Amino acid sequence: METAERPYWDMEIEPRLNTPEIRELQWEKLQQAIRYCYEKVPFDRQRMDKAGVGPDDIRSFDDFARAISHAGQPEVRELVEEMGSDLDKVFGALFGKERFEDLYLLTTTSGTTGIPTPYPFFRKGVERQVDIMARGSWRMGIRPGDRIGVCFGLSMHAAGTPNLLWYLNYPGVTLVPIGAEAGTERILQLMRLFKVNVFTGTPSLALHLIERAREVLGEPVASLGIKILACGAEPGAGIPEVRQRLEQEYGARVFDLGAGIGASCDHPVYQGMHWLADDFAYYELVDPETREPVPIEHGASGLAVVTPLEPEHALFFFNLRVTLGDIHQIFTDPCPCGRSGFRYKIVGRADDMLKVKGVPVYPAAIEGVIQGFVPRVTGAFRIVLKERPPRVVPPLELKVERGRDLHDHELPELEEEIREKMHKDVKVRPAITWLDPDTLERATKKTQLLEKAYED
Ligand SMILES: [Zn+2]
Repeated sequence: METAERPYWDMEIEPRLNTPEIRELQWEKLQQAIRYCYEKVPFDRQRMDKAGVGPDDIRSFDDFARAISHAGQPEVRELVEEMGSDLDKVFGALFGKERFEDLYLLTTTSGTTGIPTPYPFFRKGVERQVDIMARGSWRMGIRPGDRIGVCFGLSMHAAGTPNLLWYLNYPGVTLVPIGAEAGTERILQLMRLFKVNVFTGTPSLALHLIERAREVLGEPVASLGIKILACGAEPGAGIPEVRQRLEQEYGARVFDLGAGIGASCDHPVYQGMHWLADDFAYYELVDPETREPVPIEHGASGLAVVTPLEPEHALFFFNLRVTLGDIHQIFTDPCPCGRSGFRYKIVGRADDMLKVKGVPVYPAAIEGVIQGFVPRVTGAFRIVLKERPPRVVPPLELKVERGRDLHDHELPELEEEIREKMHKDVKVRPAITWLDPDTLERATKKTQLLEKAYED
């Protein structure tokens, strides 16, 4: 592989991302993908049969958007129940016999409730994915000679062990599989010992390492000489304040990664993640409530729905019109960074959505605003729900921890500033109850931002 400096890993496909030309290629591939899924994937065939459509009835992207409704967690859960929780049967139905026999690696999400979601990796998928992954790595500036510290969880985490596969064809890099399980002290020591210069892991771990570095290494975290932080599995690297802190403390560039297909760019202001694989996966937006298609236009938002264009090589998205439950906002105008691919920002989770006077509000968006006021607030807060979500009778009630050094007389002004910023960014004016620092419980894993103040 030619490794001389060039803008893109794939100089044939990447310059054509997000162009009418690639739409033609997508249409060709989509027709084949629909046929594959109809013939070989029982789950998809059933959905099409139920809707009364066959592959020949779908003659345009619009037909496809309306032919079958998208599927996600609830549909998979139904399937699991139907199959009496026999995961082999579930896999057979979801992935089809041919792919299932090609199963190479099996990971899951931890799953806060119920059964964990399986994330399988198939041999053929891995072979193709190394090329897609390389597009993101090249754009991030990973080059021969780099040492990548893999600091995602290595036990069953979909972003962890699979990392060891993605660089097989990538020239000259060395992987150091440290794993989040090693704990912050060992992570810091091993990164120094093995001269790791690329960190990949969750942004919250990267933040935590800043705090521990002086104690463990006797020097600030910048002393490690890390040049790239490739963060994923959590939204942090897309929150401007978090990015800024990481960049300053590490003296590194911070990138936000999404589901193996998206990577943020080098522009100093976060522009969302560039979608890097129009030739590999077909992207749509739908209204999470009406399930109607949302036109792909600059600034549009909706539930992200993805279809694999090469189903036999698929990763994360194995079926027609599937969703991981994320609400995206997209930007189709050219990015100021000059690189190709439309961009998307993760607005929140569809199942976390609240409706304040009919306006959709996501806890992640509230968190973004609150984080922007650190250190005048600690960053910890809760949304208090007086009735079963999604409906919220205004005002939206928040409990917010005041910052450690904030004086009483500064509170009213801060409260007004936060309310204004919320109104501007999230379109709600919340009522704020102030709490002392460290009142709210800190979770080690996923923080529950909603506080239930209603009877079931
Ligand atoms: Zn960009």
